[in-house]
Amino acid sequence: MKMYSLKCMDLGIDCQYVAEGKSEEEVMEMAKEHAMRAHPEEMKEKMDQYTEEELDDTMKEKIKEEEA
Ligand SMILES: [Zn+2]
Repeated sequence: MKMYSLKCMDLGIDCQYVAEGKSEEEVMEMAKEHAMRAHPEEMKEKMDQYTEEELDDTMKEKIKEEEA
């Protein structure tokens, strides 16, 4: 079975949070929810700079896939 993870730190935020799930979609959802809640200012800044599509692509690129 594959596990996916995304570190908040990989998105350029100084934070220890790691989103983990069984699908990329799950991890994206978790990471977004966390970022909106924990880092609203950083998120707002990024959303001013990039489109939602670009942000999604950037996040997807950072997701790590591993066999569990
Ligand atoms: Zn975080």
